[in-house]
Amino acid sequence: MPTSPSEPQLYDLAVVGAGPAGLAAAVTAADLGLSVVVLDAAAAPGGQYFRHPAPGLGAARPEALHHGWAAFAALRERLDLHTGAGRVRHLTGHHVWTVERTGETWTPHAVAGPDGPGQRQRAVTSRALLLATGSYERQLPFPGWTLPGVVGAGGAQAMLKSGLVLPGRRIVVAGSGPLLLAVAGSLAAAGAKVPAVVEAAGYAAYARGPRTLAANPGKLLEGAVHGAALLRHAVRLRSRSAVTEAHGTDRVEAVTVARLDRDWRPVPGTGRRIACDALAVGHGLVPQLELGTALGCATRRTPDGTYALELDDRQRSSVPGVWAAGEAGGVGGARLALAEGELAALAIAAELRADTVLADAPRAVALRRNRSRLRAFAGIMATAHRPGPGWPGWLRDDTEVCRCEEVSAADIREAVEGLGARDARTVKLFTRAGMGWCQGRMCGPAVAWLAGGGPDASKGTGAGTGAGATASTDAGPDRRPLACPVPLAALAALPVTTEDP
Ligand SMILES: Cc1cc2nc3c(=O)[nH]c(=O)nc-3n(C[C@H](O)[C@H](O)[C@H](O)COP(=O)(O)OP(=O)(O)OC[C@H]3O[C@@H](n4cnc5c(N)ncnc54)[C@H](O)[C@@H]3O)c2cc1C
Repeated sequence: MPTSPSEPQLYDLAVVGAGPAGLAAAVTAADLGLSVVVLDAAAAPGGQYFRHPAPGLGAARPEALHHGWAAFAALRERLDLHTGAGRVRHLTGHHVWTVERTGETWTPHAVAGPDGPGQRQRAVTSRALLLATGSYERQLPFPGWTLPGVVGAGGAQAMLKSGLVLPGRRIVVAGSGPLLLAVAGSLAAAGAKVPAVVEAAGYAAYARGPRTLAANPGKLLEGAVHGAALLRHAVRLRSRSAVTEAHGTDRVEAVTVARLDRDWRPVPGTGRRIACDALAVGHGLVPQLELGTALGCATRRTPDGTYALELDDRQRSSVPGVWAAGEAGGVGGARLALAEGELAALAIAAELRADTVLADAPRAVALRRNRSRLRAFAGIMATAHRPGPGWPGWLRDDTEVCRCEEVSAADIREAVEGLGARDARTVKLFTRAGMGWCQGRMCGPAVAWLAGGGPDASKGTGAGTGAGATASTDAGPDRRPLACPVPLAALAALPVTTEDP
């Protein structure tokens, strides 16, 4: 495997992730005169929200599936200007698998190119590090969820935005969270029949924060726009309901939708079949933290039971020299990610130059206010869509929970109730759940929950899995030293260090 030593240049700032947060940070930092390198696993800038068709597809109106295209076009123009002038280096297709710390500098190590002998390694070094790695979807398993035709809700949106393809013609959208409304609207606008959006939570919980709602009229408008799109396309919204089973042999042919009680337990006798050829399902988003936790950054538990990096009001993590912005610091949408990226860049420039005026400039103060307002909304959203403790009632003994390693719900129950596992790590050691290619991104949240790590775990009231479940523990986020699969040669090429991480 070809390896490249660290580039000789010491950048002021290395940004991992070129979504809304990373892009806003990179162009703001370059505007302020910093030298910036951006590493992103994707082939094009934009992240999840600004995902767009590859040029080869010849999309005539790439903006058609976007609400924020003008913001992206402006960011991309600034990025192009800065890359043209050599102030920003944008490394596309570079997956950062670890970040090495040497004194006061940071060296992200990335793999680039297809798996196999042609894969390259690259390392860059910087004075400051910004993690803008976004989030991934949370999946809660149910019988039939591994059938072909069952895709992630955000995954369906990504297929449409980047590949201009639909996962089916008649698509049920299910799970929990506001993303479902955006996905259903996009799929219907692209020509799919969406017989139902099935939302496990109720929307009344939003009403518990009237002042936060009033302070976020943009979010209410977004909701109204999505609602109007559903009406226009005759999509039925069924709240407090879940897809509790997907049916089919070679691929999904129908789903069972059941009413849920307030703890997300299916109400007996309420199951109804809906015919479909695809199911787009996701239960919210989980911040992508591996690089931060491997560096020792502190985390916080969010109201929906996931973990996010703990950040101060200047986007600083608990590790000096490491900042984060966007969904790595808690799921809150693209506008929040944009504000946090810009705020982080101002704070980084201020710190590298010891410029106290810049840190508290009117723009920084306005961004901080914006951030607090949007974070407050994100808190309400996370509370409203937090999974109820009854969801494991959807599982049957033979339901595969870890699809990579084919570990069933019964295997996990045995590890917890029979062998006394109290956290996901111990369940993994007993069963291999989470050891496969996806490294727990698919099954991790469900396994942690079944091991007693539900949202209330720190209060000792985690979901457990039944009568024999042991007292729950809040084991913290999964810590994995490698953020993606890497060849052994990449590990072998790392310099040996005796420094503490
Ligand atoms: C599948 C999916 C679909 C979504 N679709 C929508 C939508 O349609 N509408 C909406 O409002 N919100 C959507 N969201 C939510 C959306 O992600 C955010 O609101 C917004 O994009 C967050 O911006 P961000 O910059 O924090 O992260 P992102 O936009 O997620 O950007 C993160 C970037 O970091 C890169 N990255 C992550 N880890 C590494 C690594 N180790 N090395 C290199 N690069 C890395 C990723 O490739 C990505 O480009 C979606 C989320 C997901 C997970």
